[in-house]
Amino acid sequence: MHAPPSRKPFDRTGADHIAPDCAGQNFYVIDRGLRDLLRLYLAPDDFARLEPYFDRLGALAGGRLDELARIADKHPPVLNARDAFGRDEDWIDYHSSYRDMEKIAFGDFQFHAMSHRAGTLGMDRPLPAVAKYALQYLFVQAEFGLMCPISVTDTSIHLIRKFASAELKDYLLPKMLSNDPANQWKGTQFMTERAGGSDVGAIETLARCEDGEWRLYGDKWFCSHADADVALLLARPEGAPKGTRGLALFALPRRLKDGRRNAYRIVRLKDKLGTRSMASGEIQLDGALAYLVGDADRGLKQMMEQVNLSRLSHGVRAAAMMRRCVNEAMVCARSRSAFGKTIIEYPLLRRQLLKIAVPTEQSLSMFLFAASAMDRANAGDKDAESILRILTPLLKFRACRDNIPVATGAMEVRGGNGYIEEWVQARLIRDAHVGVLWEGTSNINVLDIVMRAVGKSRAHRTLQGTLMKLLDQAASVPATFRDRLRLALDRTLAFAERVATEPALEARARQAAGALYHATSAILMTWEAAQSGTDARRALYAKLVLEHRLSAQDPLDPPICDWEHDAAEMLFSGREVALAEIAGLLDG
Ligand SMILES: Cc1cc2nc3c(=O)[nH]c(=O)nc-3n(C[C@H](O)[C@H](O)[C@H](O)COP(=O)(O)OP(=O)(O)OC[C@H]3O[C@@H](n4cnc5c(N)ncnc54)[C@H](O)[C@@H]3O)c2cc1C
Repeated sequence: MHAPPSRKPFDRTGADHIAPDCAGQNFYVIDRGLRDLLRLYLAPDDFARLEPYFDRLGALAGGRLDELARIADKHPPVLNARDAFGRDEDWIDYHSSYRDMEKIAFGDFQFHAMSHRAGTLGMDRPLPAVAKYALQYLFVQAEFGLMCPISVTDTSIHLIRKFASAELKDYLLPKMLSNDPANQWKGTQFMTERAGGSDVGAIETLARCEDGEWRLYGDKWFCSHADADVALLLARPEGAPKGTRGLALFALPRRLKDGRRNAYRIVRLKDKLGTRSMASGEIQLDGALAYLVGDADRGLKQMMEQVNLSRLSHGVRAAAMMRRCVNEAMVCARSRSAFGKTIIEYPLLRRQLLKIAVPTEQSLSMFLFAASAMDRANAGDKDAESILRILTPLLKFRACRDNIPVATGAMEVRGGNGYIEEWVQARLIRDAHVGVLWEGTSNINVLDIVMRAVGKSRAHRTLQGTLMKLLDQAASVPATFRDRLRLALDRTLAFAERVATEPALEARARQAAGALYHATSAILMTWEAAQSGTDARRALYAKLVLEHRLSAQDPLDPPICDWEHDAAEMLFSGREVALAEIAGLLDG
């Protein structure tokens, strides 16, 4: 097989009429928002130490990694059921491009271990969450599929470290934390069964204690990273109660201590719309040996820690794919000519660009703020824990949902070429859709936000306290604008509380969660814009959110917004502006 030729480097001349793509760009260097916010959310020493890695991964994501991702997407994994001797040694073949991406992720950057031990990326302690998720964000701008095995290995390690017995830790952790490809054990999570994905309590897999060992019997219907070395899964011990209370958490090794295959089979791989580089399959458990993790009656509670970490990562992945969409759309809009003008000059196209840029910037602020809350929560801050509790499903729900129209919007900017598989837009559209399905559909995340995080934990009120302080700190932003944001937040919280308490309003849960996301992100972007060294234009995105997502508008009599024209001018000009220069636009 011949690999396709390399993309020509980024070239704005558009000499052959076809607009170029982002090939050859450094996705860290061109991302002003990310660079500013990393300075804001990371401690100065950590930023200084880690910036060379952001820069290196940014270059890889716009170069080698992007090329590998393009090839891997076209050569999906293949399942082999038997070997040449007729033995049921099921294994999956991956294209060399996928293996090369694994080397970058697990070898070079050690994504799986960076939160758990010192010694990755020159750090003398585990990386802050802000840095880890920023690196995920850069990686996923090139490759989405492999981030599933990367993240689920990271989160499996978290669960083993936190809940497993000392003996099980000794057995698994040295292998899982290794960066030696020959000895490393990667992790995964098998939960969904035919009887239920959202309805986890319907799980039918049985765990039976035989001769002092746990043996599993049943089927798992969706198993991403199907050939992982160790899977965390939920099963019901014999005699345990029905529903979620009866579920226990187990670690299932692919190989037994004597090297033989464990008693389960990968029955087949799924033929998926997206994430095609990565293998998702179905698993049949025929008395497979597994190790109980933690307390047998707290399986789901423990597993939810992994689910929540994955949800945050999914929000980051959606943010990353949206950024790639924006970058591609901007390159196109600045290069393609139609009717004698570069298309970015047309007001209608600028409006479309704003529509994909705004959710992209919102998700950037939201994931970095959530990650910084995680860092504070890990240091023992209870308020930060509460904020993270609500931000996690909020980010997962809204960013993954926004990713879909943003990907379609970016395709449209490229025109017909955007529909053709040679260009990245088609893959971005295919990959975007899984975000609203795995680790809880939109509805499941939204119910978690409104019914539990708001209704039971009251986490929205802790979030409110923090957001109010941030608004107070943004004193350089016109007071009228900040007052409007305060009012919008108050109304949003009141709405969310009504939905949480009035059963007749359950069908409005998505609307309430959406409003919560918009109010939070608008305040964050306002605060960020007011910090010295940060691009003040982030406040314009906040204003767009306030006007279009949190204020009433008559669709048949829209206001004539000169300020939007001026805002687009500033946002697309690339020219730095001081906050004072945009104060008039915020005030209006
Ligand atoms: C590519 C891919 C990879 C996956 N990988 C894994 C994996 O590695 N491990 C794993 O465990 N799972 C995995 N999944 C499964 C995924 O997590 C489930 O598909 C998902 O949780 C939804 O479950 P379901 O398919 O059973 O749909 P259902 O739960 O049947 O949902 C169907 C619809 O009903 C809605 N719904 C359900 N309950 C409610 C309610 N109370 N109120 C309102 N609406 C509701 C849902 O929102 C959805 O729209 C994967 C899925 C895909 C597509």
